[in-house]
Amino acid sequence: MQTKKRLPTSRRQPEPKPWDDWRWQFRNRRRTADEIAETLDLGRKERLALGEVVKTYRSAATPYYFSLMDAGDPLDPIRRQCVPDTREITSEGGVEDPLEERAHSPVPGLVHRFRDRCLVVVTNRCAVYCRHCNRKRLWHEREKTLTPHELTAMAGYIEKRPAIREVILSGGDPLTLSDGRLEGILARLQAIEHVEVLRIGSRMPVVLPMRITERLCGILRRYRPLWFLTQFNHPREITTEAAAACGRLLEAGIPVLNQSVLLKGINDDFRIMRQLLYGLERICVKPYYLFQCEPVKGADHFRVDIWDGMRMMEKLWKTTSGLCLPRYVADMPGTQGKVPLQPVSFL
Ligand code: SF4
Repeated sequence: MQTKKRLPTSRRQPEPKPWDDWRWQFRNRRRTADEIAETLDLGRKERLALGEVVKTYRSAATPYYFSLMDAGDPLDPIRRQCVPDTREITSEGGVEDPLEERAHSPVPGLVHRFRDRCLVVVTNRCAVYCRHCNRKRLWHEREKTLTPHELTAMAGYIEKRPAIREVILSGGDPLTLSDGRLEGILARLQAIEHVEVLRIGSRMPVVLPMRITERLCGILRRYRPLWFLTQFNHPREITTEAAAACGRLLEAGIPVLNQSVLLKGINDDFRIMRQLLYGLERICVKPYYLFQCEPVKGADHFRVDIWDGMRMMEKLWKTTSGLCLPRYVADMPGTQGKVPLQPVSFL
């Protein structure tokens, strides 16, 4: 992917570490409080506090994603997205399952909230555990992936419902599965006659762009129409490596859309958000949604007031081309789809 602007590049570690090997990156995720504290050079007190959070909400971040942060700045936007914060366990706000997904799960791992589409949670494992994740409740269980028996049950449910035309592979991050496992799931779902479109929701282009290999793209290509939804939240995440990963997907004929989450102190500033949207446009990733952060237990401190969000959108709307503009929406239980949040002057 060529862009006129110079993109930042991750701070590669010296050889012989196989920096570009996604499995190496995955195996070497910083997971424990000690590993994180060592990388960030934290003192004993902070290390203990981190340890307390990790007991409730697990943690992991790839060496690649860690390398994007300014480790000395506690307010760094990359650091805040992946390093545990004591507010996760001290804040009273939020609920475990704000979208009531459990109540809409007729078969374990399958969420069916809307008539024409359903969500298949293929794993609760991620390369990076984003501190603002709306499925933090899944982290209480050990890391696991879909069993063949569970896949059969899900496929059986979908087969009996001809109204389901779109299946979304989600998680966790589906791309933590091996190519072979992933292809098996895609093939099983695509074989269902009325399933017309597949979608994959994955943060890999952002947190582990090496995972988007030519081989993986070759597999995904075979299951088109397939849409790829990712989540860039800050312009500093758009690196040379991330742009190249998105470029490989696009060259394989897979459209790439972005779904950011509006996060306090990370991207709730008009200029930062505009930089992010411009950056996405330059790498040909369409800004699709900007989600209002849901009232999730353990992530309440990321929430931005809806009115502030709408004011920011109004400014963006007045100063940015339509191609760059995402729809600012809230996902709410009991609604027939995402609820658009727009200032009166939009109407
Ligand atoms: S990659 Fe997605 S599912 Fe995983 S922690 Fe981040 S937001 Fe949640």
